[in-house]
Amino acid sequence: MAMEKTKTSDGKDHSREWMESAACANRDIDPRLFYPSSGERESKVRSRDAKAVCDQCSVRRQCLELAVQMDDAHGVWGGLNARERRRLTNEEPFTNLAA
Ligand code: SF4
Repeated sequence: MAMEKTKTSDGKDHSREWMESAACANRDIDPRLFYPSSGERESKVRSRDAKAVCDQCSVRRQCLELAVQMDDAHGVWGGLNARERRRLTNEEPFTNLAA
């Protein structure tokens, strides 16, 4: 299997091979869940549903690490929305995250 490499703002290469194990890669999962953008009520429901998928994901930690490294300001990554990720990185060292 070819391993995709990407450089992030920290200058390191990060393998994305783990994405093949992502729960959201299941074709039955609507990818729009992870980028809720419509009305407030629907957005909360989608965000909750996306987080439920993340709760079952075996690569949640890798996903969250990548989102923090990329400083992605949108969407649910690793079970957290952008506001939650900002709070997390501002309040505690990222290395202390639970898997
Ligand atoms: S943690 Fe969530 S967004 Fe990240 S790969 Fe897993 S299911 Fe997808």
